[in-house]
Amino acid sequence: MIQLKQNINPEQEIIDKLKIYQDEIDGLATFELRSEKAKKIFSTRNKIGNTVFDAVKLKLTEMCSGARRCVYCEDSVADEVEHIHPKDLYPNLCFQWDNYIYACGNCNGPKNNKFAIFKKYDGSFHIVNPPRGTNATEPPEGNDALINPRIENPLDFCMLDLSSTFKFVVISKAGTNDAIKANYTFNEVLRLNEREFLRKARETAYTNYKSRLGYYTSQKLGGEPQKKLDKLIDNLKQEAHPTVWKEMQRYHSKKILKNIDKDLDDLFIKSPEALNW
Ligand SMILES: [Zn+2]
Repeated sequence: MIQLKQNINPEQEIIDKLKIYQDEIDGLATFELRSEKAKKIFSTRNKIGNTVFDAVKLKLTEMCSGARRCVYCEDSVADEVEHIHPKDLYPNLCFQWDNYIYACGNCNGPKNNKFAIFKKYDGSFHIVNPPRGTNATEPPEGNDALINPRIENPLDFCMLDLSSTFKFVVISKAGTNDAIKANYTFNEVLRLNEREFLRKARETAYTNYKSRLGYYTSQKLGGEPQKKLDKLIDNLKQEAHPTVWKEMQRYHSKKILKNIDKDLDDLFIKSPEALNW
């Protein structure tokens, strides 16, 4: 799960059209009616050929890492407009640009309408999605308990274990809301550790990034022209699982990389510019 690129927005005309769609929901009298309406009209509007959603998807694509990779798993192609705040629970955010991200079907399907908050009045953790097959009820007020990659950096909550497991480890202090939020997001909702093919793909990505950095460093030290080196940098940035690369940089900066992979640590010493890629 990776933080999305910031400050990317559709034209005002598209935002205005989304607002017109939203008004159709907001004008209804009860939460139940708004929730039903949101589900119904989102699926009819979110189609290829709808100019508003065609434009939304182009902008969401710009925000993705690599070759339009899913924000959650960083592995598969992002092809579904996902609501961070589920539309049946938060129908008031159904056509809100800031509430959209691009995800893959493998992540979006199981995530469905899962959401949790820390209740406003007592701060307790509270799952707001209804049991399967039942209708949503209006969630109480509170702060989000699901990490929002639009505005938060998932790597402030977790660290990827590059030494052996390639699983995410919660680094927020045990018992704090941040730790609960990290566990809920990474493990319960997105199952980023449980899905073995993702763990394996992160392990492979580590080897790929390392090889690319090694090749770049040898070419640079061999005096190859900058234009050729720039191409190698671009290619590295297109790899899937950019979190793995971010963690390689963080491990070096925290001086822990040398204990687990001396060769890689040496590559960062020879090519410190790679810490900014
Ligand atoms: Zn995914």
